[in-house]
Amino acid sequence: LLEVKKLNKSFNPTKAVNDVSFSLSKGEILSIIGPSGSGKSTLLKLIGGLERLDSGDIYINNIHIGSASKKEKKIAQEHIGFIFQDFALFDHLSIKDNIGLASKVVYKKDKTWIDSETNRLLSLFGLSDKRLNYPLTLSGGEKQRIAIARALITKPSILLFDEPTSALDQASIGDLVAIIKDLKKEDIGILIVTHDLNFAKQVSDRLLFMRDSSIIFNRDMVDVKDIHTVFDL
Ligand code: ATP
Ligand code: MG
Repeated sequence: LLEVKKLNKSFNPTKAVNDVSFSLSKGEILSIIGPSGSGKSTLLKLIGGLERLDSGDIYINNIHIGSASKKEKKIAQEHIGFIFQDFALFDHLSIKDNIGLASKVVYKKDKTWIDSETNRLLSLFGLSDKRLNYPLTLSGGEKQRIAIARALITKPSILLFDEPTSALDQASIGDLVAIIKDLKKEDIGILIVTHDLNFAKQVSDRLLFMRDSSIIFNRDMVDVKDIHTVFDL
């Protein structure tokens, strides 16, 4: 589904990502933990196409992004949904327009398709009554679900979450765990960057630990005895 090989990225003089390699399979949930500044968000942005690589290779559904044509890149990009830490909703657009925007502008879907998909996702997340609201009127947990709905409308096969629990209370974190486990059933591969060790423990199949821009540990969650000791390695 996703394979990255020897990714490197510097912001002179900082080396943010150093020779990072790993892969993500269908229906797998992988969490990346690590200290602040270790390069986690940068890694996610490289995969999401939001930062340029210095070197290395990214394969999305076996398409090599570095050598792909524009059209292939667009198809690969459509396979990726990105959910940002601060949700990055457009405050001047209603909820339904936030969800439909990329489909309309980037992927040129027709209005009937967009309306029906938007309504389906709103109902899936229990937010149908917020259709015409604006983001500023929503709670953190509601914004989170809208951000997920917006990422799902292109029917991605890979979801990237940056710190998904940071704005949520315990009850909303529980809802998010349920949402993520449901997505896993649909064979979506999920990559989560998080500081929340309990959350990582609950949702992940595999744990990656990043320190000083490198991955120093990549293990199945069942082999991680006590996640709270990983930072001491
Ligand atoms: P946190 O847990 O605090 O979110 P992180 O692991 O996500 O940290 P990154 O945001 O990936 O860390 O940053 C890694 C390093 O790269 C840091 O030293 C950061 O200052 C630097 N960096 C990240 N983005 C940029 C940028 N656009 N310009 C310059 N330096 C950057
Ligand atoms: Mg970060």
